[in-house]
Amino acid sequence: RKWSSLGESSSFDDESTRKARKVADHYSARSNQTLEEREASPIIHLKKLNNWIKSVLIQRYAHKGDAVLDLACGKGGDLIKWDKAQIGYYVGVDIAEGSIRDCRTRYNGDADQQQRRKKFSFPARLICADCYGTRLDEYLSNDAPFDICSCQFALHYSWSTEARARRALANISALLQPGGYFIGTMPDANVIIKKLRDAEGLTFGNSVYWISFDEEYAQKKFRRSSPFGIQYKFHLEDAVDCPEWVVPFNDFKSLAEENSHAFVDEYLKMPEFTELMRRLGALGDGNQDRSTLSQDEWDVAYLYLTFVLQKGGESSAR
Ligand code: SAM
Repeated sequence: RKWSSLGESSSFDDESTRKARKVADHYSARSNQTLEEREASPIIHLKKLNNWIKSVLIQRYAHKGDAVLDLACGKGGDLIKWDKAQIGYYVGVDIAEGSIRDCRTRYNGDADQQQRRKKFSFPARLICADCYGTRLDEYLSNDAPFDICSCQFALHYSWSTEARARRALANISALLQPGGYFIGTMPDANVIIKKLRDAEGLTFGNSVYWISFDEEYAQKKFRRSSPFGIQYKFHLEDAVDCPEWVVPFNDFKSLAEENSHAFVDEYLKMPEFTELMRRLGALGDGNQDRSTLSQDEWDVAYLYLTFVLQKGGESSAR
């Protein structure tokens, strides 16, 4: 689709900046886990499933030598995946100072690191910035255009206001080369709103997560006045505890209709991705159906969807 209308400059009110700060502080404060702590997590298999989904997306869409822009890159959990895809250049941007610090440590390799590994084969630039409140093209004019933009489990943080949501898409549009891919994962608004409708009150969840809406936002959703700023509080054991925003998927929907379950069904049939799922530890040793995820972890996986958008225009030969 064409995103040319999304490029206008926007002003950001203090309230949306304050909320973005709250999200940043939450992620900044999350310390790196040891391998033992990670394995003991109540959502360890969900984490492995999410890593598998991201690996599949990256393997499907990245090509050798690609320039990659990783928006909301976090602690650099996808660096190894990009390395396996033999990319040529990586720019990671995240609003959380602590996460960018950890990402830098992971990229540079650290003597204390649990998993000692060879240096990454691609050069990288890591930047602390608000991807949804900053004109990234002004920062990254020497790095663009990118072949791929990835935004994993993070695009929904841009939906707090229309200006921020537009800025997110304008940044991606400005920095991707024609024909380049925008790949990502984010909560599925349809699943969340259906669960809210079915809930007794304004909160629903299970043993590993809960989502809670304030009356004001729940009403806003049901009145369908504006698709932006529909806030809820998301708590996921050992992972997330901060405000998030519903992303009504209409703009994306036609190009990204697969939710996590459908995605898993489709790619788990392919031997190379079955083997990857097993190696990551999200699948048991038996046949394809013997997943190690608990039902509660599957419920959380169902909250998310994957998407792939391709920028219009002639792509240059790779
Ligand atoms: N993409 C990483 C991954 O898949 O491992 C991290 C995902 S984590 C669930 C969400 C990330 O979004 C956090 O690192 C957070 O700091 C980042 N984030 C949230 N709002 C942001 C913003 N406005 N600009 C840049 N990063 C943001």
